[in-house]
Amino acid sequence: MEDLLKMKDKTIVIMGVANKRSLAWGVAESLHQAGAKLVFTYRKDRSRSKLEKLLEENEMKAEHIIQCDVNDDDSIQNAFQEIQKKADVIHGVVHSVAFAHAEDLKGEFLNTSRDGFAFAHDTSAYSLIAVAKASKPLMKEGGSLIAMSYLGAERVVEGYNVMGVAKASLEASVRYLASDLGKDNIRVNAISAGAIRTLAAKGVPSFNEILHKIEDTAPLRRNVTKEEVGDMTLAMMSHLSRGVTGEIVYVDSGYNIMG
Ligand code: NAD
Repeated sequence: MEDLLKMKDKTIVIMGVANKRSLAWGVAESLHQAGAKLVFTYRKDRSRSKLEKLLEENEMKAEHIIQCDVNDDDSIQNAFQEIQKKADVIHGVVHSVAFAHAEDLKGEFLNTSRDGFAFAHDTSAYSLIAVAKASKPLMKEGGSLIAMSYLGAERVVEGYNVMGVAKASLEASVRYLASDLGKDNIRVNAISAGAIRTLAAKGVPSFNEILHKIEDTAPLRRNVTKEEVGDMTLAMMSHLSRGVTGEIVYVDSGYNIMG
């Protein structure tokens, strides 16, 4: 059968594997199974060692593993220059990165600090713009950029606070970037993932209640997995989604449609 996905030997950069629970690791597994070549970026050295262990355990090979702190323009520039030395052409980037200070996820949103607001937006939304700009010259054959969002971008989710506003900014950035980059055949979309227990999710105080609420009320009556997010990310990277850009695609058991 003809390969419908057309991912074989495409080079994709995955940003944000902290450990085996990371959504980015679910994405890596799906892309690997489809035959893509993978480049990883990490922030902390301990993420690098965890990633190397994961790759070994799963008999997977990375084309390249590079440090990249998305709060730092030089670090982003340097990472994509390094990638260019190795790969020349890339076909996509998975931006699976977000962070807010713990104190800004506690209590009322009203108490968000100026610094906390700026930091959450810098790390979780502006970084997509900076990454799009740095990766564009490498996507010479067109490409696909995917960001990870959450329902807190459009609804008030208790305990999500400033991160919800940063995700709203991320989703709007997806649309503006899609408009700019469409002429270069670069598509930009986000996956709005349901709640999944990861390191980042630990920072959300109401996380357990969110998981239970989804089980009780989502059409599929269950939570989603990182593998399901990985498979939809693969679809959004692949030839199958070539006509889709500027969209927010929900992988959330249908929870977002409920009143
Ligand atoms: P995770 O903790 O495994 O991944 C978050 C990643 O962000 C980590 O690898 C961390 O190193 C990276 N990061 C943070 N600051 C960074 C910086 N300055 N530079 C580079 N990297 C940085 O958690 P996750 O849940 O897999 O999160 C991945 C994405 O998925 C995030 O955008 C998150 O908001 C989103 N998301 C998560 C859920 C969920 O329930 N887990 C739901 C919807 C969306």
